[in-house]
Amino acid sequence: MPELPEVETVRRTLLKHIKDRHLIKTEILYPKMIKSDIDTFLLSTKDVYFKDIERKGKFLIFILSNDMVIVSHLRMEGKFMYFKTKDTYSPYVKVVFYLDNDDVMVYDDMRCFGIMELHSLKEYRDNLIPCLKKLGQEPFDLDENTLHDKLKNLSSEIKTSLLNQDIISGLGNIYVDETLFDCKISPFRKSSSITLDECRSIILSARKILLKAIDEGGSTIDSYHPENGVDGKFQNSLLVYGKEKKPCSICNSLILKRKLHGRGTHFCPRCQKVAKVIGIYGKIASGKSTLSNFISQFYPTFSSDEYINSLYKTSLNEDHLEFKQFLIKTFSEKVINDNLTISKGEIKNQINLDNQKKIALENYLYPLLRKAIHEFIKEHESSLLIFIEIPLLFEKGFRNEVDYVLGVDCSYLKQIEHLKARNSKIATDLKLNQDHQFDKNINKIDYVIFNSSTLEDLKANTFKAVDFFLNR
Ligand SMILES: [Zn+2]
Repeated sequence: MPELPEVETVRRTLLKHIKDRHLIKTEILYPKMIKSDIDTFLLSTKDVYFKDIERKGKFLIFILSNDMVIVSHLRMEGKFMYFKTKDTYSPYVKVVFYLDNDDVMVYDDMRCFGIMELHSLKEYRDNLIPCLKKLGQEPFDLDENTLHDKLKNLSSEIKTSLLNQDIISGLGNIYVDETLFDCKISPFRKSSSITLDECRSIILSARKILLKAIDEGGSTIDSYHPENGVDGKFQNSLLVYGKEKKPCSICNSLILKRKLHGRGTHFCPRCQKVAKVIGIYGKIASGKSTLSNFISQFYPTFSSDEYINSLYKTSLNEDHLEFKQFLIKTFSEKVINDNLTISKGEIKNQINLDNQKKIALENYLYPLLRKAIHEFIKEHESSLLIFIEIPLLFEKGFRNEVDYVLGVDCSYLKQIEHLKARNSKIATDLKLNQDHQFDKNINKIDYVIFNSSTLEDLKANTFKAVDFFLNR
């Protein structure tokens, strides 16, 4: 579909041909596309001169010498072409404008979505034409405060809002994708989350991209050509549109394409930070794992505990002996059970008695955990949300691995109840709480779920939390 740069290119190209030319008569081959009275249209476009062509958004306005205007929108595949009368033209021609010197300008539209309307010049100048009146400002006239005001109460995704011509006029699918990539904003962000600074970036990027595209004659995509035999060159400058599965020009990640309300949306998952990474944090036995298991049905979810458990398990495989050797060196042969599993109880006991051993174990495990988290995020970077359960997220310096923190809190009694259900050594496990500074970190947590009642409640609260993060 032609967008602003293409329509502007059409305007400039046509103007060269028809400015001050005599329009002898007009022939309409597909009356349905004329949205005004046909007889008046034919009469008003007979024996007049084309004075000028203006553009508003993606509308072309042909100004005639009889103070009438033709307002035209090309929609999906409409195009104006220039011929000699004797030339044969395509069967999709819908309107023919006969000019002097045996020249014709034809309007060709295979899919018949385009429209033409006749209005008076006064109506046009006074901004009384309904389809033009409701157009938003173009990026060239729009300032960040106005854009921010329009976006701040909208729950739609930013891409959808930028396609809405009432909000900002002249950006179509190609240039919205390119603009959002240029200013590194995820197309899936809620419009209301876009800050004033980001509005400024959007406007500046849109202007830069549109000007470059106009300069290069638009993009030749699908059926659009500005002039017979002449192609726009901007398609060579596109960085995400039509580049799916190609490496990003900045970070080398693969460009992805996803449908957003039916529109193909191209983006770099990394540069545009599509995935929001949420750390799940909470006291021992607060219900973190139940919540993580539930969330994992909907979003990629990483459990630090499960990862570390898997290290203990694989440490006994022939291929992964390094960790086993470390454990024996630090905790002696006692850590190997008779059935050749690792005794975590033994490790826990020794740790409780000797803080140095605890530090040694953490220094061994945490770099591996950090690496595994990075890999998990990279693997799922096109997901909207990624959850990482990290019990000691603040205490052990994992805050920078996540964008937001979801806290799970519960009462002391509930904790005991959970621990009893796990059949754990309650005293030892609660001692772990001494390390835990949930209450001290409460102000750094973006969203807290208080897990005091049923599983159903926890699930309902989890959905609320997901909604909260999707809207951030
Ligand atoms: Zn990138």
